[in-house]
Amino acid sequence: MEKITSLAKRRGFVFQSSEIYGGQNGAWDYGPLGIELKNRIAGAWWKEMTQLHDDIVGLDAAILMHPRTWEASGHVENFTDPLVDCKKCKSRFRADMIPEENLAAKKCPECGGELTDTRKFNLMFRTHIGPAEDTASVIYLRPETAQGIYVNYKNIIQSNRMKIPFGIAQIGKAFRNEIVTKNFIFRTCEFEQMEMQFFVKPGSDDEWFNEWRKRRWAYYEKLGVKMDHLRWHQHGPDELAHYAKDAYDIQYLFPMGWRELEGVHNRTNYDLTRHTQYSGKDMQYIDQDNNNERYIPYIIETSAGLTRNVLMILCDAYDEEYVPSEKKSGSSEGSADDWRTVLRFHPSLAPVTAAVLPLMKKDGLAELAQDIRRELKEDFAVDYDQAGAIGRRYRRQDEAGTPFCVTVDYQSKEDGTVTLRFRDSMEQVRVPKQELAARLRREIKDYKRMK
Ligand code: ATP
Repeated sequence: MEKITSLAKRRGFVFQSSEIYGGQNGAWDYGPLGIELKNRIAGAWWKEMTQLHDDIVGLDAAILMHPRTWEASGHVENFTDPLVDCKKCKSRFRADMIPEENLAAKKCPECGGELTDTRKFNLMFRTHIGPAEDTASVIYLRPETAQGIYVNYKNIIQSNRMKIPFGIAQIGKAFRNEIVTKNFIFRTCEFEQMEMQFFVKPGSDDEWFNEWRKRRWAYYEKLGVKMDHLRWHQHGPDELAHYAKDAYDIQYLFPMGWRELEGVHNRTNYDLTRHTQYSGKDMQYIDQDNNNERYIPYIIETSAGLTRNVLMILCDAYDEEYVPSEKKSGSSEGSADDWRTVLRFHPSLAPVTAAVLPLMKKDGLAELAQDIRRELKEDFAVDYDQAGAIGRRYRRQDEAGTPFCVTVDYQSKEDGTVTLRFRDSMEQVRVPKQELAARLRREIKDYKRMK
């Protein structure tokens, strides 16, 4: 994790928030490469959930919601973590995350000092809206995006003539006052979620739950994630949320071990029933194709962390590779170190798709390379680099996860071909420059991960 954190900073993926003031815990800033990666991951999810599914539509609800929302959802009452403090070293822990024997003996796992009693701590950030800071003006930063979907479900049925079963997808910020934030961007106080709520007829919920488990698994396979680093974890009775009938997490093998990446939950009709009670509005669905049958739909939720997906993709892509000398001999990679760090992003997720590199700045090579760059950038995210030895420039692109380098050399001037160099295999082929865009498109579509 240290290597990934330091690469992320060095190359401008992720910076600590407010670093010049000593940093702000639980908050991170996404730099030029990081925002591109995050946007592409969000784009891949959005395409998968909306464009590729006729029965799912999108939504972007506000972060600030009526405070009654969070009473109805149960968050005001139940969204708590158990908290203990060490009286001696002042460390703070989530009681469910320290060894049971320490908790029983009230002994600090770090210094052996005495622990306080466990107390409940609500994870929602509270603030005030308007000038008066009284109880009437309390408002929360949303701790999940899902509730914005539930309160809009009737609007969407009416405006878009949706029929059950159908889904609503949303990507947006969520906030939790986490007791312990560690492991880089894994658990933060400000993060982004990609959630889809699928509304189904009661009785068909088990089937849809299994169907969504299959679809979400297939999605990660399509992204080229190492499938032996993913597994299912079913929530036991003590883990199951108060509203859930069944829940499975997709866990990823992060450097610190298996951890939740995404949850697939059967939330029953709990949320809509509660919103009916708290708002006084009828949340029933009227099935016009079935004698106006009325019911409160069940909800199957797929809830993934976008920022946690960024960390997963970074960990999954990270590789250090020894470059054997025979691979270097005769090629232009000879001057670089024997080891390379490479991010093996799927080309559709890579922040930069192609880098255009003139072998030399002089003799018109830079101008030719700039022309190629201009043409490619209409369709691809393109970088241009003319500084330093070509081997070093390849290494810089490998580290940024750029899948293709286009090198312009003297032969390019003569016959109009360029070298296309592949990040993963380091192989190089010559391609006529007018065929470059089509070739890149094909390579992205047919990409198969080598290792
Ligand atoms: P945990 O038990 O780890 O606190 P959770 O079970 O409460 O997480 P959910 O409420 O199911 O998590 O949230 C759905 C998804 O949102 C998670 O799978 C995760 O990817 C993401 N997520 C939740 N909390 C955080 C956080 N503090 N920082 C980053 N991502 C988060």
